Amino acid sequence: MTAHLSNRWQQQLRSAFKSITALYDYLELDTHDLFSDEAHLNFPLRVPESFAARMEKGNPNDPLLKQVLPVNEEMQTVAGFGLDPVGDLQAMTETGVIHKYQGRALLINTGSCAIHCRYCFRRNFPYSDFQLGNQKQAINYLNEHLDISEVILSGGDPLLLSDAKLVTLIKEMNTIEHLKRIRIHSRLPIVLPDRINKGLIKALTYSEKKIIMVMHCNHANELNVEVAKACEKMRQANIMLLNQSVLLKDINNNVFQLAQLSEKLFSLGVLPYYLHLLDKALGTAHFEVSKTEAVSLMQQLQAQLPGYLVPKLVKEEAGKAAKTIVY
Ligand code: SF4
Repeated sequence: MTAHLSNRWQQQLRSAFKSITALYDYLELDTHDLFSDEAHLNFPLRVPESFAARMEKGNPNDPLLKQVLPVNEEMQTVAGFGLDPVGDLQAMTETGVIHKYQGRALLINTGSCAIHCRYCFRRNFPYSDFQLGNQKQAINYLNEHLDISEVILSGGDPLLLSDAKLVTLIKEMNTIEHLKRIRIHSRLPIVLPDRINKGLIKALTYSEKKIIMVMHCNHANELNVEVAKACEKMRQANIMLLNQSVLLKDINNNVFQLAQLSEKLFSLGVLPYYLHLLDKALGTAHFEVSKTEAVSLMQQLQAQLPGYLVPKLVKEEAGKAAKTIVY
């Protein structure tokens, strides 16, 4: 592969939309009061062009646009919505390691993402307070805790690490005998599918542990030909593919959309794994779907689809020993 092709995803990352006006021009939308400069300053807009290309031009209510557009509602303070909704700060035990659940530890190597999802549970996370990427301490922690059989690479987005850094990390994981699996939580296969290139696949094949890729897709419109190709490459490399979504008001909170998402994911070889109730992060209240509505949606979904296409409806609660299965 030429350097040009292998670096294409990094070029796309650099040229992502970071200006609301530029995104509005691209989408042929009028600049009016839908968006908020204040919300943008608080958590800046960031959208790769390949993701914006899947939005409908001229539609201010496009379900992909609504996931990324800074709006006035984000600036409202709503009771119950806070800075650390799932207790990650309390659970951070060593630099970059979050050990909340038995047998699993989460490793945060980067606070950066290719896209800024407005509903993100870590949108207020103080990444800069931690020395992320201090691999030695994290590896020591994993080595010392013999009960950890699965490491979850999270972030930010772990696939923003270079191939070389991933190889180093994977080789260190190989030396930890009690580790059985490496789970990667990433939105890149969806929002920047060119990241799933030969270099990355080669990096992942260094792993002697089973690799599971948990992608993050919320709406069937996010799945295009490029995403399908990325999934195919990962499947050929024997990587198990799962998806998690967040239930989001006016984006995917209807049974037709959820069914279409499950069907389309499955056609790409991806199993719908979790549907999350919104984590109550400050600035995200306008995305909330009530538990009652969510359960009703799940019942309708179950009536339409085979069980393996119905994700588990879950809620993460600070301090609990596991996610709560709501349905
Ligand atoms: S990619 Fe994931 S971690 Fe990054 S902003 Fe979106 S939801 Fe949050």
